[in-house]
Amino acid sequence: MSPFDYERAIDASAAVARVSARPNAVFLGGGTNLVDHMRLGVARPELVVDVTRLPFARIEPLRDGGVRIGAGVRNSDLAADRTIRSRYPVLSQALLAGASGQLRNLATTAGNLLQRTRCAYFQDVTVPCNKREPGSGCSAMEGHNRDHAILGASAQCVAVHPSDMAVALVALDATVVVLGRQGERRIPIADFHRLPGDSPQRDSVLEHGELITAVELPASPVAAKSAYYKVRDRASYAFALVSVAAALQVSDGRVEEVRIAFGGIAHKPWRATRAEASLRGAPATDESYRRAAQAELADAKPLKHNAFKIPLARNTLRMLLRQLTAGAPT
Ligand SMILES: Cc1cc2nc3c(=O)[nH]c(=O)nc-3n(C[C@H](O)[C@H](O)[C@H](O)COP(=O)(O)OP(=O)(O)OC[C@H]3O[C@@H](n4cnc5c(N)ncnc54)[C@H](O)[C@@H]3O)c2cc1C
Repeated sequence: MSPFDYERAIDASAAVARVSARPNAVFLGGGTNLVDHMRLGVARPELVVDVTRLPFARIEPLRDGGVRIGAGVRNSDLAADRTIRSRYPVLSQALLAGASGQLRNLATTAGNLLQRTRCAYFQDVTVPCNKREPGSGCSAMEGHNRDHAILGASAQCVAVHPSDMAVALVALDATVVVLGRQGERRIPIADFHRLPGDSPQRDSVLEHGELITAVELPASPVAAKSAYYKVRDRASYAFALVSVAAALQVSDGRVEEVRIAFGGIAHKPWRATRAEASLRGAPATDESYRRAAQAELADAKPLKHNAFKIPLARNTLRMLLRQLTAGAPT
């Protein structure tokens, strides 16, 4: 690991000023992703500013009925929170589907959002990777790409976003609250993560030095009827091949409201706007769910080893919608 300076922040604005002033400075949350990358040589920060002592560890109700989740709230605390479990079950389920108990005890809300891809080529500093070393090439494109993207990829990068939590937050229309040198800004979560395009090194729209302070969930009746389903190689301790976060409200046999996001298939959590549009007002039947899944995956472009993800994504969505319709436990 390269040598680095360590500081513990006690004031958010000062932390922003410290990191903004040095191009190679970073914030530290639970360290479960960043420290691994420092060990591997994927990240070589000169200054690490620990933000876990900032007063962002609370889950609070908002006046409009929503919920504010502090950036420092640990994944295990968020998953276990009574309000989250009853009003936003998809979020609790997504968190519990990720990592392990020990990791969730350390991992923070902000760190989880900003964890980096698990693409094996990104994590191996001996091979080319445009995300790690812009312009060096993409080893996954012609390499082993079973885990990679089927939607929204570019000629530069086919990596997928690894976070389960972020998929649920996208389905819930969360807002990311950020503090920068110019003050606070609020970013709808659907606009927070990026597709790779020509600059795959940038995972999100955050500017250098911007600190996530909170994530806000809007009040949402449909969110109470939501669930997360993750398909993976092992029953635990494995990243998603495909995952689906969905919320569904059915009235008189028709879909009144629906929210859907996919994980494991794109460089960002994938909001399924086509499937949602196809479902609103449609009969709440398996045939409607089949059509919606078909519409969403119509533009999918598989790589050599991951064509299986297309039917897997379609079938997982249908299955989850059927379960939500029946009110069955997921
Ligand atoms: C073996 C293993 C298995 C895993 N399995 C899963 C899984 O199945 N599903 C899943 O979703 N995740 C999984 N994870 C990833 C885990 O969820 C992440 O490592 C964790 O959520 C990162 O949170 P952290 O607080 O430790 O972030 P850190 O490692 O501290 O930071 C991650 C990034 O966020 C930045 N950052 C941290 N806080 C802030 C802030 N407030 N503002 C701005 N930037 C900030 C850091 O600079 C860094 O770039 C796994 C990890 C491991 C090691």
